[in-house]
Amino acid sequence: MPSTEVHLYPDSLSPGALKTEDEHRRDICTAGRWIHERAYVASTDGNISLRLDPRRILTSPTGISKGMMAPDDLVVTDLDGHKLSGRRNPSSELGMHLLIYKRRPEVNAVCHAHPPVATGYAAAGIPLNKAILCELVLSLGCVPVARYGTPGTPELAEALEPLVQSYDAILMANHGVVTCGPDLLTAFFRMETTEHFARVALVSELLGKQVLLSGGDVEKLLAARTRYGLQTGATVGPDCPVTSDTAAPERITMTRRELEALVDEAVQKALEKDRQQR
Ligand SMILES: [Zn+2]
Repeated sequence: MPSTEVHLYPDSLSPGALKTEDEHRRDICTAGRWIHERAYVASTDGNISLRLDPRRILTSPTGISKGMMAPDDLVVTDLDGHKLSGRRNPSSELGMHLLIYKRRPEVNAVCHAHPPVATGYAAAGIPLNKAILCELVLSLGCVPVARYGTPGTPELAEALEPLVQSYDAILMANHGVVTCGPDLLTAFFRMETTEHFARVALVSELLGKQVLLSGGDVEKLLAARTRYGLQTGATVGPDCPVTSDTAAPERITMTRRELEALVDEAVQKALEKDRQQR
């Protein structure tokens, strides 16, 4: 017999932030299942929230798999994180969600997860800021890395503070990714886009070559973004994204044998000079 759960909480999520509280509760559970199914989190990691109204936030609780939440597991808090209702407790990482809601009045939803490839970049301290994908220039611009902050302490929000105003997706050093948007579907899509971009960036790095778009290519994309009226807070600036015009000169790579030959040659020259001076 098919699970009644599937019929109660269908696997779809409509755009928009104007919904009943029941609809918002179902949406958070659906987004939680998507994040879990895509392995963007392990165990009870990750957290999702949305703005119910100017004073109330609906959020996933602590200590539960994001793939197993039911609507009445969710917690309602105020903008300072005080619990208003719910039998469970909010995540200790709620502070970073609240920071984003306070700084970005147009943001109505926040997703935090640990998708493995983007989190790998975060662990390496490497931002996803190269203009290698036209779609990403259009949607996110680039994804910076916030410095490390201990989870469960105010450090986590403090580390994000300099970046939340300008970016819709941020890598959190040695931790994960946080995304936001005008509604939950957009915030979730931005998490999906960030992980997808990280995978493409990784493959191009494994192939040993990245052909960056030029500054002119990026300008044309930005003009198209304005023309299409795309709703995005994506920041662009001198180094965001890095284009073929602004990239640092390419690194020189060589084989071990070539390096040994160079070292040998230098040593021989030094010995020869030494002999001549004696
Ligand atoms: Zn986390």
